[in-house]
Amino acid sequence: MDKQNRKAIIAGNWKMNMTPTEAGHLIDALVPAVQGANCEVVICVPFTDLCVAVAKCSGTNIHVGAENVHFEKSGAFTGEISADMLTDLGVEYVVIGHSERRQYFAETDETVNKRALAALNGGLKPIICVGESLAQREQGVTEELVRMQVKIALNGVTAEQLKNVVIAYEPIWAIGTGKTATADQAQEVCAAIRKVVGELYGEDAAKALTVQYGGSMNAKNAEELLGKPDVDGGLIGGASLKADQFAIIVDAASKG
Ligand code: PEP
Repeated sequence: MDKQNRKAIIAGNWKMNMTPTEAGHLIDALVPAVQGANCEVVICVPFTDLCVAVAKCSGTNIHVGAENVHFEKSGAFTGEISADMLTDLGVEYVVIGHSERRQYFAETDETVNKRALAALNGGLKPIICVGESLAQREQGVTEELVRMQVKIALNGVTAEQLKNVVIAYEPIWAIGTGKTATADQAQEVCAAIRKVVGELYGEDAAKALTVQYGGSMNAKNAEELLGKPDVDGGLIGGASLKADQFAIIVDAASKG
């Protein structure tokens, strides 16, 4: 299976932006802007925006995701949200292991794995984020590191469950910085991710996997990044907060 046969996914990651009222306005602008998309369109929004997002996206081609999920099913975990709570709302996707969660909220490869398993067992599609810091890139350990992150994140994930997994390559130095990885850098690491998944699950599973790039993707650079053979979509932060910018990226992905 080559790129044309894989599902391209453009997912917005709103981070800690947008009140429910603001979310409603943004979605009202997004719905007509992306309705002709030839790729999967997802918005991953703060927990407080999920109700309005699910209601407004119902009957449209926009799928809704959360930005995190706890790994336990229920219980004494004040402030946390379970997979069942999200699926009951109508949420389909969840971002897991974003570098901001790893950096500011002590997420580790092990908790990323636990969250990925909880998401899959609860019926959610995890978008698992991996990527290196600038120091790690300069040290030349990007591929080793990303391979390890992928292996640990997928520990215990079955071949059947893998069909619902998305992996996002997000170099930390490119997130929210305006510094984008070159299309060749993005391609190199996305291909390495597909390779390690092939080693774990076989060639066919690897060829079917959606691998996104994320890190300052915007209306100007999306076409070049998304044109690469192993880049099947994008996880978009800043540019997902502007309907017109996000729609241009969705258009770029729709072209393949
Ligand atoms: C992100 O939040 O995953 C991201 C890639 O952010 P930005 O596009 O703003 O770099």
